[in-house]
Amino acid sequence: MVLNSPRGTSDIFGEDIKYRDFIINTAKSLFELFNYSEIITPAFEHTEVFNRSIGESTDIVKKEMYTFFDKKGRSLTLRPEGTAPVIRAVIEHKLYSENLPLKLFYVENMFRYERPQKGRMREFWQAGVEAVGTEEPFIDAEVIWLLNLFFEKLGFKNLKLLINSVGCSICRREYIDIFREFLKPVVKSLCPDCFLRYEKNPLRIFDCKINTCLETLKNSPKIYDFLCTECRQHIGKIMEFLKVIGVNFIIKENLVRGFDYYTRTIFEIISEDLESAQNALGGGGRYDKLIGQFGGPDTPSIGFAVGIDRTIVLMKQLKIKFMEGGKQSRIFIISMRDDFKHYSFKLAKFLRDNNLSCEMSFLEKSVGSQIKNAEKNKFSHVIIIGEDEIKSGIITMKNLKTFEQFKINWKKQLLEFLELFK
Ligand code: AMP
Repeated sequence: MVLNSPRGTSDIFGEDIKYRDFIINTAKSLFELFNYSEIITPAFEHTEVFNRSIGESTDIVKKEMYTFFDKKGRSLTLRPEGTAPVIRAVIEHKLYSENLPLKLFYVENMFRYERPQKGRMREFWQAGVEAVGTEEPFIDAEVIWLLNLFFEKLGFKNLKLLINSVGCSICRREYIDIFREFLKPVVKSLCPDCFLRYEKNPLRIFDCKINTCLETLKNSPKIYDFLCTECRQHIGKIMEFLKVIGVNFIIKENLVRGFDYYTRTIFEIISEDLESAQNALGGGGRYDKLIGQFGGPDTPSIGFAVGIDRTIVLMKQLKIKFMEGGKQSRIFIISMRDDFKHYSFKLAKFLRDNNLSCEMSFLEKSVGSQIKNAEKNKFSHVIIIGEDEIKSGIITMKNLKTFEQFKINWKKQLLEFLELFK
């Protein structure tokens, strides 16, 4: 029997690891530049953490959670998203009482029981930030700027940044009444899921991907047009701040996101080069009531998450190139005879002690085919160790990119030797 990884999961190796490292390193250094510090939460939580925050009528809670009972009968759930666990930790450790805004970031795997397809997995990775403790619109603008800058740093050029406000509890309630009125005559033409959503949580109808529902929504009233004065001013200031720092955005008046905890600002970054159902690379929003809902003090907050796997798919598709930090030189040492390997071993120790990546040949093949092998595996330099080299200490080094050759007594000219790999 052949054992495969479970459907919707993947092994990550080879080229994908390099993309992933680049994305995660870029995220971490950028988030730290904006004064975020890392938090790691458990891969599973008490199921209630998600039920109470994401919303009982969302797709995630209704259909997509990996929920199980442990041996003591406790209901646990593999985290489907990062915000609720971070907020649970903030409350548990009373982090909100320290300097505000508290800025945290995470890089973690998430689990959702979705129908797998390209860019949609059952286990996937997200990098995200949460800024806890202020409702100042400049924080919204800063978080949105950070999301946009992150994708710019990765080398993306034609992404679209969509922004909307879903209002506060007061104006949203008014909008929902108006939206229900609009749907009333056509409610029977909605899909069975949306028919139920109509009563329970009509905003979730905007998550529907079914054509008849999408058609119905085309002419629907838009939440953005029904914002109260405070909410309108809030989003207005965010737009001003974004203009000040030159971040381009589009107001999408009917944008909603798949979590119930959002209030006011929501945003998404999309690529038209991805299939429309999965075209969001990342998104987020403000959640002013979530900490209060969890029993903590009212603490307005905002965050976003980006999908690492989907970003890799698009970087490869668009052939976005990147520099692999610190790994430019990779040296391949070829020993011409088996008993020269001790010498090669010493040389490898010296290179690695000096942070240079190298590999020794363990294959009993001709020197020519070993050089070919080194080229194929993208080594930058080759050093061949033979009898003369060992006797004289003078080794020949070949740069596989420029084909230049250097002879050097590496033990006597240590610094010059290391300089050759820069
Ligand atoms: P969300 O947490 O739903 O707001 O999603 C934020 C980002 O995570 C999305 O824009 C995607 O890039 C990524 N993402 C969400 N769900 C999946 C999934 N099932 N598979 C891969 N990436 C996902």
